[in-house]
Amino acid sequence: MITTELSNIGDIIQNQREFFQTGKTKDVTFRIEQLKNLKQAIIEYKQSIVEALQRDLHKPELETYITEIGVIKEIDYAIKHINSWTKPKKAAVSLDFFSYSARIYPEPLGVVLIIGPWNYPFQLIISPLIGAIAAGNCAIIKPSEIAFYTSHIIAEIVAKHFDPAYIAVVEGGVEASQKLLAEKFDHIFFTGGTAVGKIIMAAAAKYLTPVTLELGGKSPCIVDTDINLEHTVRRIAWGKFINAGQTCIAPDYLLVDKKIKKDLIAGLEKCLKEFYGDNPANSPDYARIISQKHFDRLVNFLEDGEVIIGGKTKPSERYIAPTVIDNVSLEDSIMQEEIFGPILPIIEYTEVSEAIALINSRPKPLALYLFSQNKNLQKRVLQETSSGGVCINDTVMQVGVSSLPFGGVGDSGTGNYHGKASFDTFSHNKSVLKNSFWLDLKWRYAPYQGKLPLIKKLLG
Ligand code: NAD
Repeated sequence: MITTELSNIGDIIQNQREFFQTGKTKDVTFRIEQLKNLKQAIIEYKQSIVEALQRDLHKPELETYITEIGVIKEIDYAIKHINSWTKPKKAAVSLDFFSYSARIYPEPLGVVLIIGPWNYPFQLIISPLIGAIAAGNCAIIKPSEIAFYTSHIIAEIVAKHFDPAYIAVVEGGVEASQKLLAEKFDHIFFTGGTAVGKIIMAAAAKYLTPVTLELGGKSPCIVDTDINLEHTVRRIAWGKFINAGQTCIAPDYLLVDKKIKKDLIAGLEKCLKEFYGDNPANSPDYARIISQKHFDRLVNFLEDGEVIIGGKTKPSERYIAPTVIDNVSLEDSIMQEEIFGPILPIIEYTEVSEAIALINSRPKPLALYLFSQNKNLQKRVLQETSSGGVCINDTVMQVGVSSLPFGGVGDSGTGNYHGKASFDTFSHNKSVLKNSFWLDLKWRYAPYQGKLPLIKKLLG
């Protein structure tokens, strides 16, 4: 097991600062080598990653491949585009700047800190790390202590494949996080809950450190009548119950047109049987709740409303069946907090304006889902609501598209990443203006006498 003494944090940062100063990370060839190195390390450790996630979350192997090891696709994308991302970009200048040229140079920020959560504990550390490497930074990463085995695997991979003066892992919980936050970084990238997000932002403010906060919240899912019911229930059930609902962009609750509610519930019931059999506790394809604390929190939600599908639990395994709840009140705790587990409340509406009004009365969500083929309704929901992202006629898949920046807005987060957005997040765009010596007009120099009328004329 690889552990870092918390008392060494200052040394690690100092070593990284010195390494950064050598300029080595500014070399694009070096960055590409390191991205390939990371990819190779993940491939080498595939089986250990699968086993760690099995132990932490009972995560099915297929889910680990598509949602954790699949981060390799982000590495390939970065390698493919890094030459164009790093190239200085020409910027236009207006006619009165005719003797100048302007360019934007992306430059690395320096030493960055990445703090991750436990729900996709591998991918949510590695994905921002790819951006940090591509942009030419050194990085310290702190995986979630709650996904204990995955944290160790990340530490082992990084220790084996990277110089700690370039990339280092600090394992541990709140104490480790707070020790790190007491230091100055050039950027902090945090994924986790909104409450801790506030602590991170306050700590960063002390040094004016820029932050990216990838937070959570309640992501609504509107279901209209103009749908393919079979596809709709399958896509909702998959997005909600993958990783036993512990997904930041899982549909948190459904807002369903009351004309289709009965059919939707029947469809969900049938679909869950197809996915997990008569008893999901015996299915190899269904995860468990990460910890006793989260299990207890979720079990309390089962008291709200009326359980119409599922509802069974097995405390010894931290198992909660895929559950659908009807007749919840908006004041119930299940409708006040992010659920982050396999419990899906259904709220019906008569007019879609009720659904939109409910969404707009709450903090801006990370994701918003709409199932409808009605183009006018699609347009209306896009126009009248605000959320980190939107996925129409599907759930969760938006996270897999590297060309789409991923992030929240308002309470669901600040900043974004994936693909080019990751590179931008960990870069500073340095504006460079260059003049030449072939001409030096005197309109801006003192003495100003006689020059004002011309300036006034030019400025209209
Ligand atoms: P969390 O906020 O409890 O913990 C995240 C990280 O912060 C962990 O590494 C933890 O050690 C550290 N931490 C916890 N308390 C701290 C404190 N007081 N001071 C400093 N650091 C502290 O989040 P979690 O429970 O691991 O993850 C669940 C939350 O994360 C959910 O709200 C979910 O929606 C959100 N999430 C968001 C995204 C996204 O991409 N936007 C992805 C996954 C999870």
